[in-house]
Amino acid sequence: MQITKTNLEQFINELIKSGKPVVAPIRENNLSAYKPINSFNQINLDLPFPTKSAKEYFLADYEKILSYSFGEKGQIEMKEPDQPKELILFGVRPCEAASFPIMNKVFSWDSQDKFYQERLAKNLVITVACEQSDDFCFCTSVGLSPQATDGSDIFMRKTQTGDYLAEGITDKGKNLIEKHKDLFAENSNEKPIDYKGPEKKFDLKKIKPWLEKNFEHPMWNQISLPCIGCGVCTFTCPNCYCFDMVDEATLKEGARYKMWDSCQFRMFTVHASGHNPRDNQSKRFRQRIEHKFNYYPDKFDHTLCVGCGRCIRHCPADMSLLETLITINKLT
Ligand code: SF4
Ligand code: SF4
Repeated sequence: MQITKTNLEQFINELIKSGKPVVAPIRENNLSAYKPINSFNQINLDLPFPTKSAKEYFLADYEKILSYSFGEKGQIEMKEPDQPKELILFGVRPCEAASFPIMNKVFSWDSQDKFYQERLAKNLVITVACEQSDDFCFCTSVGLSPQATDGSDIFMRKTQTGDYLAEGITDKGKNLIEKHKDLFAENSNEKPIDYKGPEKKFDLKKIKPWLEKNFEHPMWNQISLPCIGCGVCTFTCPNCYCFDMVDEATLKEGARYKMWDSCQFRMFTVHASGHNPRDNQSKRFRQRIEHKFNYYPDKFDHTLCVGCGRCIRHCPADMSLLETLITINKLT
């Protein structure tokens, strides 16, 4: 289906008026961020990509997962947490959209994470294909591309004339297009911008076998020297999912909170005894690469990285996961 730029504006404004929160990339203090919008005019689809990924709308950075109070006779009264609201995400990039089902593999494995799953079921993702990339992007090296539709409910591609071609990928997406069908037309001869994405930078097939055999390789010490363990790479990554639980309580009531954590923090693996199996930054950096390119594929048959480049773009120490993978490729 084709939608003109004017109709796209009307489509988004109608979605906003329908009362569901619509989240899209906007410019904020010279940066880009996914935020709830009040009007189509706030949307900015140009570079730079949003600093934080849209992960927080699936895996909240901080949320209450239960609360309780003690009744007059000392009985415990549990309170259910607030239910996640239905949300529409517009302008998500194909790599990020692909990250949502990848992460669902861990949240629907041995225990079911109803918070993640409910958001995945309720959120509607409208992806817009990339027409450009920067030096940090490497989606094509991890099996994705600007045309990848994984994780999208509606997939849009800009045409040479500035209109969009829209494809309903899931029933949710098809139903939304059907509901607003007056704004869409059957495809004319308009061609989408044919952007193939960044050139392939390494051979993914070679990474896992090398990681399996080189846990103690001297490269790890050398390559991780600049890392300051700030965790920016993990907080901006659409696929990093580590979280912590904290209880806050008084004598009368209490609540349990779930919040993002990072394997790059020194305290992350400290045992109650005080022993820390990852007692230096080199081991913590190695863990991030091993988890994404070795352990996760072992367990879930998928790399835990979609090549968005955020961990490189925003690292204050100029650490590059991409350079690490290219180095590993050269060592094989
Ligand atoms: S790799 Fe960079 S962003 Fe990640 S913890 Fe180290 S310094 Fe921080
Ligand atoms: S590891 Fe880096 S490049 Fe890969 S998905 Fe996470 S932030 Fe993006």
